[in-house]
Amino acid sequence: MPHIAVVIPVFNEAEVLPTLLQRLRAVFDAAPELRWSACFVDDGSRDASVALIEAAAQQDPRITAVLLSRNFGHQAALTAGIAQVRGADAVVTMDADLQDPPELIPELVAAWRGGAEVVLAVRRSRRERGMRRLGFELFHRVFQRLTDQPVEANSGTFGLLAAPAVEAFTQLPEQHRFFPGLRAWVGFTRAVVEYDRLE
Ligand code: UDP
Ligand code: MG
Repeated sequence: MPHIAVVIPVFNEAEVLPTLLQRLRAVFDAAPELRWSACFVDDGSRDASVALIEAAAQQDPRITAVLLSRNFGHQAALTAGIAQVRGADAVVTMDADLQDPPELIPELVAAWRGGAEVVLAVRRSRRERGMRRLGFELFHRVFQRLTDQPVEANSGTFGLLAAPAVEAFTQLPEQHRFFPGLRAWVGFTRAVVEYDRLE
């Protein structure tokens, strides 16, 4: 039975974690032909996030909690989680704040089962407006000029890596990581799944 591990960095997400857990469990329960696990990496939260993910891990053997000793930042938390689930057949990476809908995970898995080793969730629309939107657009324009492996402008953390891509990612020596950039750099057979990113 293929093992899918979902890695979720968490920094002060107590408000949304109960909903995320509920929606994630529903996705897992709807696909009993797969072995599921979710690794929540707490990145030094100061709210009830730790208590929530520890309680979830105690109730459900599919859930594990990794507690970092302080706030290291999104990218470091993501890297810690990916290292933790080494051995899974595929790793789904997503944010905790419900901007990445868990209901898309089966589509990412389907693309992997169809032969893709790197699956990108690409937003159909960007909700950000004004300065924040301008910031994203400028960042991507500058970043594309600096790199020779283009990063899909409308993708972020959300996506899936098959075991060989996880292994390649894990072996990279970079300390200050930009996950979408390294994911573009490692290569492998790729696929895109579109979704509407939420507020
Ligand atoms: N996050 C984290 N450490 C941080 C900041 C954020 O682990 O220092 C987590 C956060 O809980 C969320 C994900 O990383 O699950 C993305 O963070 P955020 O939503 O702030 O990023 P944005 O949506 O603005 O790109
Ligand atoms: Mg967010």
